[in-house]
Amino acid sequence: MLLRTPSLPRPTASSLDQAHLALDRRLGCSKVLADPDICSPYARDDSDVDGGVADLVVLASHRDDVAIALEIAERFEIPVTPRAAATGRSGGAVPAAGGIVLVMTGLAQIKEIDRRNLVAVVQPGVITGEFQRAVEAEGLFYPPDPSSADACTLGGNIAENAGGPRAFKYGVTRDYVLGLEGVLMGGQLLNIGRRTSKGVTGYDVTSLLVGSEGTLAVFTEATLRLLPKPEGIATALALFDDVIAASEAVGSIVAAGLIPRCLELLDDATLDAVRASGVAVDRRAGALLLIELDGESAGSLERLGSIVHSHDALDVLVAQDEGQRARLWTARKSLSIASRKMARHKLSEDVVVPPSRIPALLAEVRRIGLDTGVRHLAYGHAGDGNLHVNWLWDDASQEAAVLRSIEALMRATVALGGTLSGEHGIGLSKLAYLPIEQSEALIALQRDIKKVFDQKGLLNPGKIFPALHHAC
Ligand SMILES: Cc1cc2nc3c(=O)[nH]c(=O)nc-3n(C[C@H](O)[C@H](O)[C@H](O)COP(=O)(O)OP(=O)(O)OC[C@H]3O[C@@H](n4cnc5c(N)ncnc54)[C@H](O)[C@@H]3O)c2cc1C
Repeated sequence: MLLRTPSLPRPTASSLDQAHLALDRRLGCSKVLADPDICSPYARDDSDVDGGVADLVVLASHRDDVAIALEIAERFEIPVTPRAAATGRSGGAVPAAGGIVLVMTGLAQIKEIDRRNLVAVVQPGVITGEFQRAVEAEGLFYPPDPSSADACTLGGNIAENAGGPRAFKYGVTRDYVLGLEGVLMGGQLLNIGRRTSKGVTGYDVTSLLVGSEGTLAVFTEATLRLLPKPEGIATALALFDDVIAASEAVGSIVAAGLIPRCLELLDDATLDAVRASGVAVDRRAGALLLIELDGESAGSLERLGSIVHSHDALDVLVAQDEGQRARLWTARKSLSIASRKMARHKLSEDVVVPPSRIPALLAEVRRIGLDTGVRHLAYGHAGDGNLHVNWLWDDASQEAAVLRSIEALMRATVALGGTLSGEHGIGLSKLAYLPIEQSEALIALQRDIKKVFDQKGLLNPGKIFPALHHAC
């Protein structure tokens, strides 16, 4: 295992016993798990972080359960890790200090879809893809679309400020969260934000909570902004012999004023992984762009075609119907599973640079791979400069080289004007690199904000901020 949880103080046996008793009494035994075998699956998420172990698991199904759990946890000084579908890729749901894992998937109701005001009210455990489909059945649209949409939850998306292929045109989760109901450590319930599209009353606490990675409050309800469903979607796939040519085409598409709803880039190693998993991709292609236009720009396919051809595209395929559209998406949709099969271990980074710097970032990734000898592949949401660089390795002897590769990637990203994480969050897996991007003063300010919400540091401890502030 490459990444281990930091060593944090764990709750004492006697405080755990007392908390267990109080939770059983207030919530009922069926909502409180304590058998180590039953608790052990709650130790991991979809990152490569080796878990701490949950001492207790609380299965919440009502906001009151959350308030009671956080009240008891604070009283007995037990750390609490909120957890939803555990598809997170930075260790956010891993219980780094043990204690209570608070499972939020039982709050899974879509409470309201309001067509007249373009608003929905949801509980946090609703699966994102199910929500998207429910909204679309009403002729409306919820744009945030993490590729994990059929498994992850809206609450997890809000905590991580999830993005996805459509973020370039439509923005990320934060752009759609109007209001939140949340519970603070200690059990206080707060209503934050608004239901209107405009509103500047007080500080923007909603925005602060979105992306807070379960460290400030536990969400029990969210009010989300919806859009009318866009008319018409045009999907095209362009093949290139080289990823640098493909990424330069991305720059030209953006410079031409075309804002595709998706602009996905796959490099040569990613295409090899996809081919190895049985998906047919033209053998000549060393890179692929999947481009989707919607609404008014759906009529701009010809312009798009001439731009990609000016960058020596080998071939351009345009979907003529839904079936063909789904086929053009096959390579993109298969790549997460396909890349997992390429090595025993895979670590996916999600760095972001200004889109015009993507060719430079890809060149850096190649250089780092050559320096360290670690296999890698890269794909991502090229329109907004968000590249998923996956490091692949088979045995523990390569771990030091992988860690060197990750640090070199983080440094190169920041040097190119970028940021460490576009959508997965810092969690446990990237906290050592935070000082590469943020100053000591800024990290200290954020720690102070955390203290205002959670004085004893019990809510999702060990996440986001490194133990020491010096640059690594
Ligand atoms: C195949 C695959 C593809 C992916 N693609 C994308 C992508 O395109 N874009 C993207 O952004 N991410 C992507 N991800 C990452 C992941 O799906 C997202 O981070 C997602 O938002 C996590 O949701 P979850 O329900 O699984 O949350 P979890 O992993 O359970 O938790 C994530 C964080 O949220 C906190 N949390 C959970 N519920 C609450 C709550 N109610 N209140 C407060 N905090 C809470 C947890 O403590 C943790 O810190 C992908 C993951 C996989 C496995």
